Amino acid sequence: MTMNASGTPETENLRVGVDVGGTKIEAVLTDAAGTVLASARKAARKGGDEVVEDAVAIVRQVAGMRFDEVRSVGIGIPGLVHRDTGRVENVVNLGIENLELGGRASGMLGLPVWVDNDVNAAALGAYGTLPDRLKHGRMAFVNLGTGLAAGFVRAGLVERGDTGALGEIGHLPVDPNRMACKCGQRGCLETACSGGGLRRMWPVADPPLPDILARADGGDGEAERVLGIALHALADVVQIVAQAADPSVIVIGGGVSRAGSPLLDALRGELRNREASSGFIAGLRLTERLRLADASIPIGALGASLIAC
Ligand SMILES: [Zn+2]
Repeated sequence: MTMNASGTPETENLRVGVDVGGTKIEAVLTDAAGTVLASARKAARKGGDEVVEDAVAIVRQVAGMRFDEVRSVGIGIPGLVHRDTGRVENVVNLGIENLELGGRASGMLGLPVWVDNDVNAAALGAYGTLPDRLKHGRMAFVNLGTGLAAGFVRAGLVERGDTGALGEIGHLPVDPNRMACKCGQRGCLETACSGGGLRRMWPVADPPLPDILARADGGDGEAERVLGIALHALADVVQIVAQAADPSVIVIGGGVSRAGSPLLDALRGELRNREASSGFIAGLRLTERLRLADASIPIGALGASLIAC
């Protein structure tokens, strides 16, 4: 709480954003300008009742003494989200078939609660961290988490399809290795470059990608083979996003992106190989559009605070 010139208390319009993941829940408290004032993190528990309880608890925790100044709450969660009602379906990793997340959390907190898909929330959070000069165009956010999906933001607003499937590029069955996917197809892009796909191909390290990159750099043939599969799929992802939606910025985020600059360098190398044999690809200037998400900011929770209004 701040004091105004006459010395009376002045309350602010604060928001809380909550990112519910398969293994952890993160939350941020933000002011009206979107500045992060506080953050909190806890392990996720499976089950609808548990998710509601944990989301409500972390809102109270991150707001602390300033809970009375919070005006709205946004929650990002995987699965099919009905934004008009706050109902969530089929969150497989959390054991949820059907949950009135928004309504129940709102009733317990006494605040409006908005719910959206976690990738859309993270896309909005990533957009919020871009320098202003990159904010006038379209941004694609590639979420390399356990699975793979993309979100799109234009002029500060999440772009949406008509049925909720926009950006579900992880299940495009174009990878030549034809590995089986849990969705029933073979060769889905997420089998070759998502966190889950990398763990299946490289079970000896967790997280796998930093180990694969280091060993491939040292000349380990098996690491080079697996890295080749992942980079081929990831370069396909970049091309698909760029050629279908033509964003000026493509942000790579999600847990896999924490491999950092060695990942970005390797991906740029793969794209340069494609440019070398194709003037068309060279003309797309793909490497210039690529950025890594800022790993120091909980962009999923930040984006969730921005969907609250
Ligand atoms: Zn699939």
